[in-house]
Amino acid sequence: MHYHTIIVGLGGMGSAAAYHLAARGEKVLGIERFTPAHSNGSSHGHSRIIRQAYFEHPSYVPLLKRAFSHWDDLARQADEDLLHLTGGLNLGRPDSDVITGTLASVRTHNLPHEYLSADDIRRRYPAFTPDDDIVGVAEGNAGYVVPEAAVRTHLRLAAQHSATLRYNEAVVSWHAHAGGVNVTTDQHSYTADHLILSPGAWAPELMADLGLPLHVERRVLLWFDPIGGDAPFQEPNFPVYIWDCGDGISFYGFPKQPATAGIKVAIHTVGQHCTPENIDRSLRESDVQVLQNLVRTRVPALLGPMVNYATCMYTLTPDEHFLIATHPDHPQVILASPCSGHGFKFTPVIGEVLADLAMHGRTNHDISLFSLRF
Ligand SMILES: Cc1cc2nc3c(=O)[nH]c(=O)nc-3n(C[C@H](O)[C@H](O)[C@H](O)COP(=O)(O)OP(=O)(O)OC[C@H]3O[C@@H](n4cnc5c(N)ncnc54)[C@H](O)[C@@H]3O)c2cc1C
Repeated sequence: MHYHTIIVGLGGMGSAAAYHLAARGEKVLGIERFTPAHSNGSSHGHSRIIRQAYFEHPSYVPLLKRAFSHWDDLARQADEDLLHLTGGLNLGRPDSDVITGTLASVRTHNLPHEYLSADDIRRRYPAFTPDDDIVGVAEGNAGYVVPEAAVRTHLRLAAQHSATLRYNEAVVSWHAHAGGVNVTTDQHSYTADHLILSPGAWAPELMADLGLPLHVERRVLLWFDPIGGDAPFQEPNFPVYIWDCGDGISFYGFPKQPATAGIKVAIHTVGQHCTPENIDRSLRESDVQVLQNLVRTRVPALLGPMVNYATCMYTLTPDEHFLIATHPDHPQVILASPCSGHGFKFTPVIGEVLADLAMHGRTNHDISLFSLRF
């Protein structure tokens, strides 16, 4: 069987690409080594922050606006809980990367926001106990999505549009030639005109021919039952938040999720190098201690009993911007590594971009920041 496009990896990005291509009438084959919405990659853990005030770089904002419109559409088509707009809060010292970057992005794109003093923050969100020199930038257009629900919904819609989706099948090699690509799995061989490689933390393996400086790191997510109960952490009175603690360290958290025990909090910036094969999936005492040390003085009520944890993988580029590009030697092969720990909120618009690249070799979205620049 010959396909227009084969997609390797049906996680966050691959599932979205499968949906966008299939909805445009393309003959798509998606191949996934595990089951739908599994917890071995980068797209699990019940919640991912979405926001528009983007401290990482102002040029992400147009893509975010498009992604938000897709999230609305997807949530309407989902048959499960997917999207929560709770508002968001970035905290830090006025000269911290998160605060200066957020302000640069809201000013460049004229995004609605509020600048809060430490007193404002304490009054509005009593669970936060910032020092007097901490400020906040709040935005209404923020919240979280449920990543497993997003992946499942994209896959269901892709299948409804006649995509062929194969699970528990691993791609072992691919080969590009003048007429297209050959893909070999542990079970079959397939051919296609185009290939999208969206393998998450397996990118260093599947893109090995390019020797890209992609670096995979272990991250830990923790859930706590707060001291004194959930009430101060309930949406809509508690936002998603990112707290820049200085010295390159930040942590982030979520409101109480309706169907999840405990309240999630995690460190963004501290991880351990790993591969998908050797990642330590157990919880280390140091994972909890490092997080508790950051949270204790900032969100003290959160640190009741720990009720759950999960491990996950970041795939980082050197500048922590995404990699989305056509292969330099094979224009029919598209490389997608949009992670660096902040890619999920873009998933539906990246699906659209990947579909554009596979079908037309170009996209009208500005993805110049994500070129093969290393
Ligand atoms: C702990 C954590 C917290 C995060 N928090 C946020 C957040 O709050 N907001 C945000 O926007 N982003 C966040 N991110 C980033 C975001 O989750 C990632 O950018 C996103 O999940 C990456 O999706 P992906 O499709 O590249 O990878 P994945 O979803 O992991 O998908 C890759 C898929 O490819 C499959 N695969 C790999 N190799 C093969 C093969 N050879 N054959 C077949 N299948 C294969 C894998 O099994 C996997 O399913 C976070 C990430 C982590 C890990």
